[in-house]
Amino acid sequence: MFTLPDLPYDYKALEPEIDEETMKLHHDKHHGTYVKNLNDILSGNGDLINLEVSQLLNNIDKVPDNLRQKVINNGGQHYNHSFFWQIMSGKKGQKPSGELAVTLDKDFGGIEKFKEEFEKAAIGRFGSGWIWLVKKDNKLKIMETVNGDSPITMGLEPILGLDVWEHAYYLKYRNLRASYVKAWWNVVNWEEVGNRFNKWR
Ligand code: MN
Repeated sequence: MFTLPDLPYDYKALEPEIDEETMKLHHDKHHGTYVKNLNDILSGNGDLINLEVSQLLNNIDKVPDNLRQKVINNGGQHYNHSFFWQIMSGKKGQKPSGELAVTLDKDFGGIEKFKEEFEKAAIGRFGSGWIWLVKKDNKLKIMETVNGDSPITMGLEPILGLDVWEHAYYLKYRNLRASYVKAWWNVVNWEEVGNRFNKWR
């Protein structure tokens, strides 16, 4: 069975950038529903329901045809949200450091350039989806996924990701996605992003 992981901080920890009510709805209701759906879809499928969600998505070909898209949607969102909670922190104003900072310089021409490019993708993404920083061909690359798709399904492991579904920001920022994206940098857990970078480097 898949389970909803607890947030690694209080619902209020990311205020004012991300408000308590948004965090409660986003974690308990949205993420909670993806987990419930995934368990319902795979109930009676003992081999698949006992995998880690990343293994499930890595082996999406093993999911029966009639369930595959539902698993991509709900399993992807379970993975994406579990990841998303981890790469944010109430320890505000962190910056990339060490080898990660060096690599962002090398691959994007500086951290500010990287942020600009990431923001452009996040603001420009039409409709629901996610913006990611992934390792591809030995480089850090920005990629977008639509709806609940996850880089994991494509064999790519993200180190940073941003949810740009309206449910992630609409209560506080209304239609102003750009304000949410710009505020979000302040709650990025660069220490955790750096740990993930160091693991696969
Ligand atoms: Mn979301």
